[in-house]
Amino acid sequence: MFKSIEREILQRPVTAALHREFLQHDYERLHSFCLLTYAASIGIWFLFDLIVSFEGNQGFSIASVLFLVLLYALLGALQFIAEARHFYLLNLLFVACYCIGLRLVIAGIPQALQPAWLTLAGSTMLYGATVMPLNRPAMFAVTALVCSLLFPIPSTADGALHTTLILGYWLFIVGLTLYAYLHHSRAKLHNFAMAHLLLGQAYMDALTEIPNRRAFISRVEQLMRTAGEPPCFLAMIDIDDFKKVNDRFGHDIGDEVLKHVATQIRQVMADQQYARLGGEEFGIYLQGLSRQEAEGRVEALCRQVREAPSDHPVTISIGLAQIAPGDGLSQALIKADKALYVSKRNGKNRYTYAA
Ligand code: GH3
Ligand code: MG
Ligand code: MG
Repeated sequence: MFKSIEREILQRPVTAALHREFLQHDYERLHSFCLLTYAASIGIWFLFDLIVSFEGNQGFSIASVLFLVLLYALLGALQFIAEARHFYLLNLLFVACYCIGLRLVIAGIPQALQPAWLTLAGSTMLYGATVMPLNRPAMFAVTALVCSLLFPIPSTADGALHTTLILGYWLFIVGLTLYAYLHHSRAKLHNFAMAHLLLGQAYMDALTEIPNRRAFISRVEQLMRTAGEPPCFLAMIDIDDFKKVNDRFGHDIGDEVLKHVATQIRQVMADQQYARLGGEEFGIYLQGLSRQEAEGRVEALCRQVREAPSDHPVTISIGLAQIAPGDGLSQALIKADKALYVSKRNGKNRYTYAA
């Protein structure tokens, strides 16, 4: 069953926005890996350059120092790059500098060994690109750069066999790396789309399309752990006489009313954490407001629900409680629930502040 559901989900087209989100997410997750790869590549280049310079009795040239400075500058810039699309450009620059540097070092070794070393360097660069967080144009551009800067141009002395072998190997390695890249990036994109969908379903209320109880508890507990200065408040909301709506107009209309109330909450509490906690009950976590402001907000919500044009108007009751230092979410929910009960007892369509 899971396989057929998975197949059905994977057949849905991935939107451009989701694809962009995936590329950014991929880059963010692999950012430290990219830094490590750049640093290791620079180290390897430096070592290679040292061996060729001193074993070949050429000494360390000023060009080597310039390349090292340039590569380190690009590594430094990578630390501050937050957006994937900027990384694609920086990576192209890095690859171009690195390949030119490699080509110059390889020019210092005996002529007969050069095609093999250029091929070795090119295939390593191409393999490296397949594990970097690149989009397709960036990957194709890297491949083109590596081929144009590192491909060993055959000379007439090389002979047909040598040229054919080198050309054949390059075709093979380019085909293999592009295939591996396309295959892996598609698998990663599908996993991301699947996780996105499942997390959305696990943390959003399907009817009202606002966060559900699970999302609320997880997010609010996280915020409560990192909350700076109090006060923070918790509001519990319950629709008044909702059973009557269901009984009189049916469950479908009841569902419409739930959606309508959720829309009002989303509008009035856009900058706060809100959720449908279950049934016709909602919760709001208010942060960054004084007691007066928090009371003003819940009062405005009561008014908005009461006055918003609707075919089936309803009212809501609210219990508002300040979260005491040291109190957990469940204690705060109990306090707000008690205040909600007072609102119901005093005639509904109002809020009560827990003393
Ligand atoms: P009170 O003013 O005291 O809150 O009275 P009430 O009628 O609203 O009573 P209560 O809060 O206990 O009502 C809960 C009702 O909400 C009962 C249940 O049928 C209804 N309900 C819970 N979930 C849903 C839902 O998803 N859709 C619909 N249409 N109704 C729901
Ligand atoms: Mg209720
Ligand atoms: Mg109710």
